[in-house]
Amino acid sequence: MANPIPTLDAQTQLTGVIGFPVRHSLSPAMQNAAFQALGLNIVYLAFEVAPDHLPHAIEGMRGLCLLGLNATIPHKQALLPIVKQLTDSARRIGAVNTLFWEGDKLMGDNTDAYGFMTALQQAGFDPAGARVLVLGAGGSARAVVYALQQANATLFMANRSREKAEAFREEWGLDGVYDFSESGLQSLMPTLDLVVQCTSLGMQPNKELIPPVPLGALPAHAWVYDLVYRPEQTRFLQAAEARGLMTLGGLDMLIYQGAAAFERWTGQTAPIDIMRGAVRTALEG
Ligand code: NAP
Repeated sequence: MANPIPTLDAQTQLTGVIGFPVRHSLSPAMQNAAFQALGLNIVYLAFEVAPDHLPHAIEGMRGLCLLGLNATIPHKQALLPIVKQLTDSARRIGAVNTLFWEGDKLMGDNTDAYGFMTALQQAGFDPAGARVLVLGAGGSARAVVYALQQANATLFMANRSREKAEAFREEWGLDGVYDFSESGLQSLMPTLDLVVQCTSLGMQPNKELIPPVPLGALPAHAWVYDLVYRPEQTRFLQAAEARGLMTLGGLDMLIYQGAAAFERWTGQTAPIDIMRGAVRTALEG
């Protein structure tokens, strides 16, 4: 088997992901495979950074001239006041998942919205003007709503706690919000083009769980997109497929958000198929 780590020498540049915990991350496998495929002398590591140490980690990144970083839970929001220069997506979503240099300025970006939208469009769904129900009101829902608003979609949200969905409506100007038990959902479903599942329901180890929405009431042309990628095919997607609906899992979003970071750091087009292969292998391992 080929060594996944490129030859390390005095020219090697360093990237990585900061998180707490971080040892479950698929990004090192995905990014190192991409660097290696393009013959780039860059290595990507996982850094377990405790919340108290986040400012020091960013200072260390500056001091050591790291090429870039990804950030995951719990650092995505905490980076906002630390990284002064933010892209529009990072500012609006309120979370940073990618750090890169623009000259000597450290930029905080959020590539989740790009990853979400690119995966959807590559799969063949046209979001322009679509009627979409977003399930969940957490961090990933913010990236999804941001991306869909750019495409002029009409947006509805259903969430376990109604207060969070109401707060979302106020901040983002959604067209309607529901909690999962509301009968209004039943009459909304036949009018939709897309349902995006942004809760943690169905994610390992709770694979049996499924959001309580009446999938049976969706029209035949509707798509169901589940952001969960562990497992790749959730129970929610299985139920949608059984109804003959078009489905999309979260793996491609993960890959395209990583591809955007790769392109920020290297200026080169990311090798998507190599990255997908590496993530699948890591998921199976
Ligand atoms: P989060 O900020 O913690 O939000 C979790 C959401 O799930 C909240 O809306 C919460 O509802 C809901 N929820 C949790 N447990 C529930 C339950 N038992 N019943 C009903 N609702 C429940 O998480 P997140 O960052 O948005 O991530 C959500 C999922 O998306 C995760 O599975 C994550 O792996 C996946 N994701 C995938 C990608 C990708 O690249 N494919 C990227 C980001 C996230 P309340 O508001 O009522 O608490």
